[in-house]
Amino acid sequence: MTEIIATVASAINIVSRLKAINDRIRDAEFQNVLADLNIELAEAKIQVAELLSENRDLKQRIRELEKADDEPCPKCRQRTWRVEDSKADGVFGVVGATRRTYKCWSCGLTEQRLMT
Ligand SMILES: [Zn+2]
Repeated sequence: MTEIIATVASAINIVSRLKAINDRIRDAEFQNVLADLNIELAEAKIQVAELLSENRDLKQRIRELEKADDEPCPKCRQRTWRVEDSKADGVFGVVGATRRTYKCWSCGLTEQRLMT
């Protein structure tokens, strides 16, 4: 990724050199093309910054998923399936049954299970 940054920095440096040349020759068409190039490079710089940010976020997400050691989720199979809530069941609680709510913190699936 640092290669992309170096490439953009090098391209911006070339634009600066072209501007210096343009100051000497003062060609209107050359000046317009140079301005277009400058705009394109500015856009590329923004896109690279966005990609770096997205890449950092994705790496963080991968680290979180690799560390996960919960049960496998029945939907997405990530080890991110865990008990969110556990309480006496509204009907069968009187005979000791517990209602557990499971949630996958990866895909968001929730499920309730009656534990007897
Ligand atoms: Zn899941």
